[in-house]
Amino acid sequence: MSIGDGTRVVRAGLPEPVKYEPALPGPVFAAHYHLPGEPTGGYTYGRDENPTWTHLEDAIGELEAPGEDVHTIVFASGMAAVSAVLLSHARSGDIVVLPDDGYQALPLVREQLEGYGVTVRTAPTGGDAQLRVLDGAKLLWIETPSNPGLDVCDVRRLADAAHAAGALVAVDNTLATPLGQQPLELGADFSVASGTKGLTGHGDLLLGYVTCRDAEPAARVRRWRKVVGAIPGPMEAWLAHRSLATLQLRADRQAANALALAEALSRRPEVCGLRYPGLPSDPSHPVAARQMRRFGCVVSFVLPDRDHAERFLEGLSLVDDATSFGGVRSTAERRGRWGGDAVPEGFIRLSVGVEDADDLVTDVERALDEAAWQ
Ligand SMILES: *Cc1c(COP(=O)(O)O)cnc(C)c1O
Repeated sequence: MSIGDGTRVVRAGLPEPVKYEPALPGPVFAAHYHLPGEPTGGYTYGRDENPTWTHLEDAIGELEAPGEDVHTIVFASGMAAVSAVLLSHARSGDIVVLPDDGYQALPLVREQLEGYGVTVRTAPTGGDAQLRVLDGAKLLWIETPSNPGLDVCDVRRLADAAHAAGALVAVDNTLATPLGQQPLELGADFSVASGTKGLTGHGDLLLGYVTCRDAEPAARVRRWRKVVGAIPGPMEAWLAHRSLATLQLRADRQAANALALAEALSRRPEVCGLRYPGLPSDPSHPVAARQMRRFGCVVSFVLPDRDHAERFLEGLSLVDDATSFGGVRSTAERRGRWGGDAVPEGFIRLSVGVEDADDLVTDVERALDEAAWQ
């Protein structure tokens, strides 16, 4: 029976119902489990396995690749998951291809890889530019839509080319979430994400995961988790699983709000460089529409200068000034305050929440008006 996303998310990863037990069993807090006799697998020690992770891993696997037998490994954070894939697969002498416009911690990972004797090449996400640097690569890392620039690349095209060149392919699926895009279906070997953002959506926990189709790469990633011990707490894993039940509601609402806001911003003379992959006029829209089912909650744009951008952020009352994205409450920040990302001083990344679209658009338009007068 084929079911919709809303139906899938409320049941994903739930165990068979047990009389007098809750549908989603509570978090299991255990450093070790009762283990008489020979250790023949299952739950032995808390750094290796936890039943609360198992339920969450099953759930994420069902969303990343519905109806398929995949392997998911949860981590303490998105960066723990990203590092697990790269550091468990790249060896001295290997070539790894990263995006040059991806998540702001990727340059740190690059330094780490280079310190271990790995050669790192980079190219922009837009225009599928990574195609040109695949020769001899062991692993291709894709981030689409990229954060914070919101460029989109063609995952299927890049994955086919990378496989032909003998490389494995990992996609950072943080921004899209599995309801927005399913990288394994598009040919990737790994879908990797931070669960801190839209997947869980409440801004109250950190989490990461890796989903892959094949057992061998999964075993390496699992072994890496055991070696570095980057494991999520049972409480975080349980809260994350609980949050998944509303993922379809949140993702639909946030995408609809983001589109309404992007349309309003497109009519403002002081706004330039507006990006939202769901906006039909966006340069990424044609590729995004082919591979994404929802376009996410992040809108980016540029105001004339730093002061203008800061006046705008101060003037907002329904949008908190905060980093991160994907939460139920809208947030925005002037990205240049961190350094690192190659963005103009007036660049704003706005993460759209689940508020009423009219309220949000009114608040943003009022703050833009006030920022322009001063
Ligand atoms: C936030 C983020 C990460 C890292 O996730 P954490 O949970 O903060 O460690 C990785 N990739 C992208 C695209 C992100 O936005």
